[in-house]
Amino acid sequence: MKTLIIGAGISGLFVAYELAQRGLRDIVVVDASYPGSGATLRNLGCFRSSFTSPEHVVLMKESIREWLRLGDRLDLEIEQKGYLWVARKPETLDNFRKLVEFHHQFNVPTRILDVDEVKALEPRLNTKIVAGAMFDPTAGKMSIIKNFTKFYLEVKKLGVRIVPYTRVTKLVARGSRVTAAETSSGTVEADAFVVAAAGDSRDIIATVGVDVPIVDVPRHPYVTEPYAKAIEPALIIDWDTPGSPHVTQTKHGSLILARDLEDTPRASLYSQRVDAIPHILKPLRELLPFLSEVNILRYWMGYYDMTPDHHPIYGPVQPYENLYIAAGFSGHGMMMGPVTGKLVASWILDGKPYIPIAGNLTLERFKTGRLVKELAVIG
Ligand SMILES: Cc1cc2nc3c(=O)[nH]c(=O)nc-3n(C[C@H](O)[C@H](O)[C@H](O)COP(=O)(O)OP(=O)(O)OC[C@H]3O[C@@H](n4cnc5c(N)ncnc54)[C@H](O)[C@@H]3O)c2cc1C
Repeated sequence: MKTLIIGAGISGLFVAYELAQRGLRDIVVVDASYPGSGATLRNLGCFRSSFTSPEHVVLMKESIREWLRLGDRLDLEIEQKGYLWVARKPETLDNFRKLVEFHHQFNVPTRILDVDEVKALEPRLNTKIVAGAMFDPTAGKMSIIKNFTKFYLEVKKLGVRIVPYTRVTKLVARGSRVTAAETSSGTVEADAFVVAAAGDSRDIIATVGVDVPIVDVPRHPYVTEPYAKAIEPALIIDWDTPGSPHVTQTKHGSLILARDLEDTPRASLYSQRVDAIPHILKPLRELLPFLSEVNILRYWMGYYDMTPDHHPIYGPVQPYENLYIAAGFSGHGMMMGPVTGKLVASWILDGKPYIPIAGNLTLERFKTGRLVKELAVIG
């Protein structure tokens, strides 16, 4: 059986990896550019299971477990230093308490911190404006470039063919089957097709008459000069400020600052948004006054591939029996990589997802109106 995977980001590569692990041999991954060139090499590398839907919590828990397992085997760089969700308003703590109760149903050990505990965890925080926090100790962050490179080499070792600079322009269908993909390098026939091309999945799948509601929304993280250790948790999130400004620190010391800001969907990846700096810095400086002293060196841009309910779209694309999608991660696709691979492989090889709750995340939900809500999208 020949499988064509469209998109060599973290999702496409994990699907290829899992299919190869399960014994499939003829697997080709094509990418319009170089592997990882989409959102994958533009993300912050943070992970957590402290979400607000059962679907996300269950799948992220599994995915983190798999990242850690893979991390041991491939010597990946992954740290679990926790997410600190900072509340400025006392009433936010009531919502956090409900969330903690919800997380505990799934054995995710989040907890509420009072102001003294927040100070002990992150001494640089201006706790005069903090009411408390929610802490997720199992959350963390990873090195994107190191881990993606090691994983890419591992996928190649399994015999998967990864073909860069090959853009799929059209899928060709006959009856209930997709038979081929037209690409910039010619036509590729296959028995199964997986579209893991982030926001571009929409255009690709539209060529066989199916609408996929994904919109590419720009994000702009800013990077500072490297400093000595200044941020203790993996990520600090200012939850009560619109756009949830957040900050993390890389292993070599740079701080990365970001916030969800209004922008035009699919705005050019070369557009300039230096105007965003004060919007991102102001609230974060209130929380972490030392940020007044930092020097910003550069910034990059990338897209969150957003779906209407902020959950990914997984599984079969009806009415076709051999077309699958893994896209629309709404800002969480790096952490979901391992579970994405296993889920799509189980759909292709076993006809159903190996974790039943993932069945709620097919494209069909947009037709039936059974959307799944997620309230905790950061950035
Ligand atoms: C600023 C920012 C911060 C983020 N932070 C985090 C985070 O901390 N944690 C987390 O889990 N996630 C985070 N994300 C989200 C994460 O990066 C994405 O969800 C994830 O990378 C999606 O991976 P993907 O493989 O599905 O898509 P992509 O990485 O976008 O890969 C899709 C690939 O498809 C290729 N392609 C597109 N069209 C075609 C075509 N027609 N033919 C062939 N190939 C095609 C592209 O070239 C691309 O390489 C962040 C995203 C951004 C932008």
